[in-house]
Amino acid sequence: MTGTIATSLIRVLLVEDEQAEADLVREMLSGARRHRFLVTRTDRVEAAIALAHEGAFDAALLDLCVVDSQGIETFERFRGQVPGLPVILLTNLGDEDQAARAVAEGAQDYLIKRRVDGALLRRSIRYAIERQGYEDALRRSEERYAVAVRGSNDGLWDWDLVSGEIYLSPRWKAILGFADEELASREESWLGRVHPDDRLSLHEALDAHRNGVSEQFVHEYRLQHKSGDYVWVLSRGVAVRAPYGAALRIAGSLSDISLRKAAEERLLRDALHDALTGLPNRNLFRDRLGVALQQLRRQGGHWIAVMFVDIDRFKTFNDSLGHTAGDALLVQFARRVSAVLRPGDTVARLAGDEFAIVALGIRSDVHAHQIAERVLDLSREPYVVDSKEVFMSVSIGITMGSFQGQSPDEILRDADIAMYHAKARGKNRAELFDAHMHRHLVQALELETALRRAVERGELEMHYQPIVSLSEGRIVGLEALVRWRHPERGLIRPDDFIPFAEEIGLIVPIGWWTIHEVCRNVRRWRRELAAALPLSVSVNVSGRLFSQPDFVPRIAEIVQGECVEGATLCIEVTESVLLGNVEDAKGKIDALRALGIGLHMDDFGTGYSSLSHLQKFDYDAMKIDRSFIKELGQSRDASAIVNTIIALGRVLGVNVIAEGVETAVQLRHLRELRCPEVQGFWFSPPVGVDAVLRLLRETPEWPLEVPDEASAAAPKADVARLAG
Ligand code: C2E
Ligand code: MG
Ligand code: MG
Repeated sequence: MTGTIATSLIRVLLVEDEQAEADLVREMLSGARRHRFLVTRTDRVEAAIALAHEGAFDAALLDLCVVDSQGIETFERFRGQVPGLPVILLTNLGDEDQAARAVAEGAQDYLIKRRVDGALLRRSIRYAIERQGYEDALRRSEERYAVAVRGSNDGLWDWDLVSGEIYLSPRWKAILGFADEELASREESWLGRVHPDDRLSLHEALDAHRNGVSEQFVHEYRLQHKSGDYVWVLSRGVAVRAPYGAALRIAGSLSDISLRKAAEERLLRDALHDALTGLPNRNLFRDRLGVALQQLRRQGGHWIAVMFVDIDRFKTFNDSLGHTAGDALLVQFARRVSAVLRPGDTVARLAGDEFAIVALGIRSDVHAHQIAERVLDLSREPYVVDSKEVFMSVSIGITMGSFQGQSPDEILRDADIAMYHAKARGKNRAELFDAHMHRHLVQALELETALRRAVERGELEMHYQPIVSLSEGRIVGLEALVRWRHPERGLIRPDDFIPFAEEIGLIVPIGWWTIHEVCRNVRRWRRELAAALPLSVSVNVSGRLFSQPDFVPRIAEIVQGECVEGATLCIEVTESVLLGNVEDAKGKIDALRALGIGLHMDDFGTGYSSLSHLQKFDYDAMKIDRSFIKELGQSRDASAIVNTIIALGRVLGVNVIAEGVETAVQLRHLRELRCPEVQGFWFSPPVGVDAVLRLLRETPEWPLEVPDEASAAAPKADVARLAG
């Protein structure tokens, strides 16, 4: 029961021994419009008690003189057995004294028979029910409170809203550090101590409950402690209301929740900050940038600069000094950056060695560059890690403006792109974002998509360049070189897409495709020529492909699947490919050799060109880089280098192939230096599969005599015909 009558049916237990009186009551109750009254009558109190226990009644009308009981005792017996049911006494004129006594003992009301009309009777019943409801609720709530208070640490308060009197329990005051007598039980002692920022919301919560909008008053806010500090508290309360809603008093509890609040604040901090450096994390950065953008849109007049800061070669620090040292470096860097920024600016750690700065109130790009300079200058001073001094620089991408219509993520992305340009332009510098950087990126993305499709759609094809033996005058080998037949851009050379494919990892599927394609082509030539191929075909293998764990077994599978003899195949690698994991590389090379597959070192002379390396891997041939061949006949140094390489090959028993032979002069020099094999446009450019067949059929002997006066590029073979 809540004090209001929820249903329109009111069940009344009538205890009346006189039939006529009972009929009268029934008649009076039947005229109701708002509620329907269902009357059950008995003429004895014992029967009434039994009925009340059985059936659910809303109220009882009790005549004090019934068959089995007389006077006040009738009420007392009934009340004693049925304590919760509201009782209205029906008395005869002159019995008011007894009735008044009964009311004092808990009857809700009394009515004098024959002096009462229907409306009065009905209203009296309704009120009785409502009042009984409040009393029950209050009693229950007081009981609950009594239990709760005994077991809790809470303070109690009881506020009479009519008189304004307030009661604050000793425990209530103790939460704020006061002894009972130190703080008056006054409204001011409570409401006057509320933190200014929390006042409005507290009053709103109180009003909402007073006005019946909220079922309970529950609110968290700060109250001022005796010490002057604020403590977080939780107030709960329930209003006691007059029958028609107005709150008469609110009583409730006060709990100290400062520990929980501190834990919550810590969690919130952790969620928004980087644990290592204590700087804001990406989420908080995004949030701050969002707020700054909103402010900018309202106020205008200045710009924001967003900078993406990435530590140069951080991975090397981490790998060489260890992670703990790497962490220490990050923490020191974070501290230094924070120190050079202005109070309103934010520096955040986005991830790993990536930081971002948002600087407000920027008026020109000079201003933004000054801030970036300050950050770059931080690397002048060494960092001390593990009592060692280390120098570390950063690359910075800056984007700046009022950023109309751009989201924080888009802005950060632009700064990131600019940072990549700073890295590409040599690191330890700042670059300002401009739209063409974005275009570059878009182009790169387009290239990536197109290249992925190229592999799937079979737009790649292999071309082959002959390798000619100068002593035998015949083709002894072919170098396989990949081409991309782009539907719009035509034939694209590998230098324009292989480095990129390497970067994005697409080199691996491309590499497998090239090896497969070469084997298929070898098979085809063999079939068409109806003979074994008197030469070997070398395939360029990138570092990324070579380091695949299944590199050797997959090659074996391809070679066997296409029925190509291992001895026909050679892999061509640059020195650096085998430098990474030397043991692993050695194992792989040995396994390839077991399959009969040869090994050429490409671009010799441009890398480390280490002798021990040459010996360790037991190369079959080294290819002199064409930059040296180009200089032949023009620079003494070039001749000396080429001469040395050829001599070295002879001593080590390693074949030497000169790359990029374009002119008769170059060829003559190479013959004089007794270079074993040559390759270059002088003989033939790389040509297609069918052209290779023609070459093998029609040019068994290569004319090697070079007329003395010929010095210009004059290929002997009919290149145009071959390439066609
Ligand atoms: P590379 O392995 O050093 O190949 C020799 C390059 O020199 C080829 O360029 C060839 O066309 C070019 N060339 C040959 N003779 C002459 C000449 O007389 N003068 C001049 N100026 N150039 C000559 P290409 O085909 O453009 O390949 C360039 C590079 O791309 C290759 O250098 C190789 O590193 C890479 N590459 C080519 N095909 C593949 C492949 O299938 N896989 C991998 N991973 N890399 C490849
Ligand atoms: Mg090569
Ligand atoms: Mg080369």
